[in-house]
Amino acid sequence: MIRTLPNFAPRARSAALASLMLSAAVIAAPVQAQSAPDALAVARDAALRDETAFDFVADLTSQVGPRQAATEAEARARAWAVARLNAMGFANVRVEEFQMPTWVRGEETASIISPRVQPMAVTALGNSAATPVGGMEGELVVFHDLAAFDAAPDSAIRGKIIYIGHDMERTQDGSSYGAFGVVRFTGPGRAAARGASAIVIRSVGTDNHRNPHTGNTNFPAGVTPIPAAAVSNPDADLIERMAANGDGPVRIRLNLTPRNLGQQTSGNVIAEVPGSDPSAGIVVAACHLDSWDLATGAIDDGAGCAIIAAAAQRVAAMGQPRRTIRLLLAGAEEVGVHGGRAYGVAHAHDNHAVALESDFGADRVWRVSFKLPATAAALNTRIANYLAPLGIGRSNSPAGGGADIGALAAAGVPVIDLEQDGTRYFDIHHTPDDTLDKIDPQQIAQNVAAWVVTLSLLANAPETLGPGQ
Ligand SMILES: [Zn+2]
Repeated sequence: MIRTLPNFAPRARSAALASLMLSAAVIAAPVQAQSAPDALAVARDAALRDETAFDFVADLTSQVGPRQAATEAEARARAWAVARLNAMGFANVRVEEFQMPTWVRGEETASIISPRVQPMAVTALGNSAATPVGGMEGELVVFHDLAAFDAAPDSAIRGKIIYIGHDMERTQDGSSYGAFGVVRFTGPGRAAARGASAIVIRSVGTDNHRNPHTGNTNFPAGVTPIPAAAVSNPDADLIERMAANGDGPVRIRLNLTPRNLGQQTSGNVIAEVPGSDPSAGIVVAACHLDSWDLATGAIDDGAGCAIIAAAAQRVAAMGQPRRTIRLLLAGAEEVGVHGGRAYGVAHAHDNHAVALESDFGADRVWRVSFKLPATAAALNTRIANYLAPLGIGRSNSPAGGGADIGALAAAGVPVIDLEQDGTRYFDIHHTPDDTLDKIDPQQIAQNVAAWVVTLSLLANAPETLGPGQ
């Protein structure tokens, strides 16, 4: 049987790899029926049986747990990650600290008290103010969506507790988050600016469980924060039905005791597979290590860190790549992308060739999109061809990058998106349900396989990639 290695230097043929190729030839046959598999196809198909990523996130969620930004828990996560990445054989493993304003949750309870009593599943939004000691009560002014809120006169808002809903539905590409998440991103700030005393929103989520979805909100400069919380979708349904029934005002009781801790320390964890050609630039693979505090952050974003680490380890095992692969396990993404911004500042003068991010759960990659220089168009096709046997199609839209590589993308660094299936992501996102059992071992392994292909081709490509090259 004749084997070819079209994309790899001979050094990739280690003895271990040769034996892997022999054993994998049969396994790879269904997806490479026309010809014998090459080394990258073999590595890809071997990664479909990856257990390293699942074990990584299993250990992170059980040995560290929730990892709220700039808290003691996130510091433990950094120490855990440094030890784990060193044990996996990465080089230059280090922490790069930064300072940031820090908000932490307290107690949180809410109840409808009129026209009938119903306790609600509620959670404070990041940056929410506390309610007065002992909580607050008031009439809820109910708006089905932001447009209805915007259309209401200030006299209907001032001094009131505001409710705003939305119509978010599941989407494979996650686009409904951008469209309807604005209720959480800016709703509280807009209500505060118009004199509301507090705000309760329908959770930005697509499930029908009584799990509230937390997440950050931002108050504009000069606007004093108000208590801001999300209730579960079934509780939001009840609020809207009670308001529509017209049998008296809906009154609620709300008690939130979050605190601001001032400037605290967070940090990014960096690890590398050193390349052979420093002039070729760095391939950045990013995830975020922090999570919300309501659960163990399995899908958001323990999975992303597990995927990139497992994939980079497999690429390193194929032989030294041309480009350095740098893992960025960012701190403090959830509360304002502090880690990604700090990385962008600290490494503004690094020679970045291309950047990718995994931060959309652990379900399978279904589509790839590119934003590479026109001179690298052939590389797009090579990557897409190696991804196709994994069931991954090619998008016609340009890649956007992600939050933690946003600073790099804004600086002109090319980006690629390995887009994960987001159909059920927002059922779980930022809820107490973000736990390990939601990860399908086969789907997270498919992610690793897609990342092995993409990282390997990028790290070894002869094309010029980054803006500084
Ligand atoms: Zn995330």
